[in-house]
Amino acid sequence: MKTIIVPSSLHLVMYQKLLKEYSNTIDVQVLSLNSFLYDHSEQELNILYQYQKKGESLRDSNTYKNSFNDLTFLKSCLSFIRFCKLYNVKDFPEHTQKDKDLKELLLSIYSIETKEDHIKPIIDFQSVYILHKPYNDIEMKWILFLLENGAQFIDKKTQTNFHYHSMANPKKEAQWICQSIIEKNYNACDCMIFTSQESENQVLAQMLDQYNIPYTFLKKTINSFILDEFNSVFSWIQEKTLSSFLNMIQLLYPEIYKDMNAYYTSFPDSIYPSFHLEKIEYEKNYLIEETDFLYLKNAESNIKQWFLDHDFLLHLTMNDFVSICEIIQNHHINPSIEDIKAYQYVQDCYKQSFDYLKDPFLLIQYLKQSSLTQSVKEIKGVCISSLNDCNGIRPHCFIMSANAKNFPSIVIHKDIFNENYIQNTTLPSLQKRLSFQLQQLKDTLFQMEDCFISYAQSDYEGKTVEASNDIKEWIGKDASFIDVKESSNYEKTKLFISREQAKDLFFKDSIFSVSRLESFAKCPFYHYLKYGLHLREPKSVTEVSTKGTLFHSMLEHLTTIYHKDYIHVPLIEIEKIIKDEFSFFLKVYPNKKTWVEGQIIEYSQKIHRVLQQLSEFENSWHMNIKEQEYKILKKMEFEDMTLTFTGYIDRMDTSSTSFCIFDYKSSKKELRKENFQAGLSLQLLTYTIYIEENEHLKPVGCFYISLSSPFIQDEALHISYPKDNQKLGFVEPSNSNGLDEYNRQKIISGWNFDGFDIYIDSKEQFAIPKNTLSYEECKEQWDIIVNGLLKKMKEGDIQANHVENACMYCKFQRICRNNRKEVRQISFIEEEA
Ligand code: SF4
Repeated sequence: MKTIIVPSSLHLVMYQKLLKEYSNTIDVQVLSLNSFLYDHSEQELNILYQYQKKGESLRDSNTYKNSFNDLTFLKSCLSFIRFCKLYNVKDFPEHTQKDKDLKELLLSIYSIETKEDHIKPIIDFQSVYILHKPYNDIEMKWILFLLENGAQFIDKKTQTNFHYHSMANPKKEAQWICQSIIEKNYNACDCMIFTSQESENQVLAQMLDQYNIPYTFLKKTINSFILDEFNSVFSWIQEKTLSSFLNMIQLLYPEIYKDMNAYYTSFPDSIYPSFHLEKIEYEKNYLIEETDFLYLKNAESNIKQWFLDHDFLLHLTMNDFVSICEIIQNHHINPSIEDIKAYQYVQDCYKQSFDYLKDPFLLIQYLKQSSLTQSVKEIKGVCISSLNDCNGIRPHCFIMSANAKNFPSIVIHKDIFNENYIQNTTLPSLQKRLSFQLQQLKDTLFQMEDCFISYAQSDYEGKTVEASNDIKEWIGKDASFIDVKESSNYEKTKLFISREQAKDLFFKDSIFSVSRLESFAKCPFYHYLKYGLHLREPKSVTEVSTKGTLFHSMLEHLTTIYHKDYIHVPLIEIEKIIKDEFSFFLKVYPNKKTWVEGQIIEYSQKIHRVLQQLSEFENSWHMNIKEQEYKILKKMEFEDMTLTFTGYIDRMDTSSTSFCIFDYKSSKKELRKENFQAGLSLQLLTYTIYIEENEHLKPVGCFYISLSSPFIQDEALHISYPKDNQKLGFVEPSNSNGLDEYNRQKIISGWNFDGFDIYIDSKEQFAIPKNTLSYEECKEQWDIIVNGLLKKMKEGDIQANHVENACMYCKFQRICRNNRKEVRQISFIEEEA
């Protein structure tokens, strides 16, 4: 019986080859080096726990005593012990204190059994055949041993055709490989691709799919959440924090996670809720919207109900493994084969840790670092494997990403047992190990009939990548650059919906807010998510400070009570009103008391400041406040529909013949002609047109009032440089330039129309751009713009083509990701012309 030594992931490829060449595989066994040599199924985690236990008996002064709680350190110890056992090395250096400490720890764990203590007897070396592949320095011991005793490499004695090229980026590299397979008319079953990074696999798979080339990844990552789910429970048991609790809930109880996430974001102080919202009824206020309050209250009630059946989770321990398994099983009523494998893996790890479960930390870390893979059960087309297993079983081989960093891939010890340390032991020298590894890789390349080696000149971040010197030396030439042409099929995903879907989603109830139209002009995809799919934008409690709703409501409140005298309201009165505004907020969020106190002071001062800024305007403005929060319902015919546009006018001032519109904004905003014509600033003019049509008054202007307090740079001190014998000193500025500058800021901006000058003594406080439109032009263009927007919307445009700065504060950034594209804002007026 012949034995062929081949890595387990390549067994099927080898059997396929044997069947093709000899029509049968009787008399042949294909084994991995591990299963050929060792007669023992090792329990790695159990060994690591035993090491950890041994660490406790080290001297307190040993530098590494505390490192025994670190999984990476323990794994380094195990790997080094294996290396030593292979070469029967039992004596360790003790030149320095560090050496002595390491020696103490190595001797303390050496006797713990590993698979190297259980080697099978080898009877017939002559019938052992070894596949050429890049063996590492641990495998070196066995390969050399087998060869010395009569085993042999499978040698194909072929002439290798080398092709060595570079491309602009990794995507083009994958594309070039696919194009080469097609152009050279290779049978996919004769090709192999070797990759050095898992991250390449996704792009490669997409490209092979695009070119319709069948393929198989020889190592398949087990796709199951079971490991994460167990780990979430173990982590919760180990550390009972809100974040570990929510992590467990998210994975195992997704049906309640949404409520919990919303609730605990607002009330993160305790895992078991206080359930205080059930005792509160909604009170009208400007900080918390009724829908938000009811949403939270409903979440609280659902959580309360849920805890009736699940409060055992709060008391789980590591001894409740059976209950934990039940939770996981209930979560997977129809488990996949991969789920079952992952489940068995966790059970096995738990068994290995059983005697040490007082501290599950190591088990948790071990599971976190475990990446479960399985060899495939059948192969088709091109086989894809890692560069570490590259081989010449198939004639046409592609080696990807063969740059200076990845190629040659050789093992150099860098951890605590590094090459400096190794050179003081009787283990094989670095030179011997390196030359063995390089020779293996080189011999492997020369087993291939066609060897295509490639690398991308820059990575995904655009960083330059260097070529490998070894390849150049071995094959005697530099890589030639190939400019891979983009496939016309490879395009960004197009986002679109049909006209019918657009009609159903966007025109169902015929009611539009003006801000909704503006949002469509800014980004059709945002509009689709918010108004088509009705996704909620995530909000945090502290966002009340940025919404400006409080400023807004304060001005309304003050103007309603004090009319034009609102600008003289003293700070103490403002403080009292704001305090009242926050009273409901405090009932809902008692945990935010300190934050609220700070907000009251900050808001009061800011509002007082804004009132001072507005006083000059009010003193010279000769209209009266007629309406606040005035609802508009503007009707419009569009194709076969009657649409209604809604919105609220913050403030409308009137005289007996005319009116002027004001809109409060929490940040500075300008009304620019190009924004209006692109549909981005429709609000003020929609309101103006509505009032003119319905109230029969003459419009004299429409303006934004900015409620933000701009940051002004002020000089704290002048430095006075010494003249003659004077010393260097500091002089305070004589008057505060910053305050003057602050008062000079124009907080009212917008457009004025005919007749405006009659109502104002001085236009100083207004920022009015030069390039505006007359009211008649506005009215005419408004129809064209709104029709243009509605037409686009009805055609199903949901592209993530956004105008400048639209994404800056958008909460849907994670959804649109790669499809985002900044576009120049279009003018519907130009288009029409
Ligand atoms: S992030 Fe930008 S492109 Fe994406 S939805 Fe928001 S605005 Fe549109």
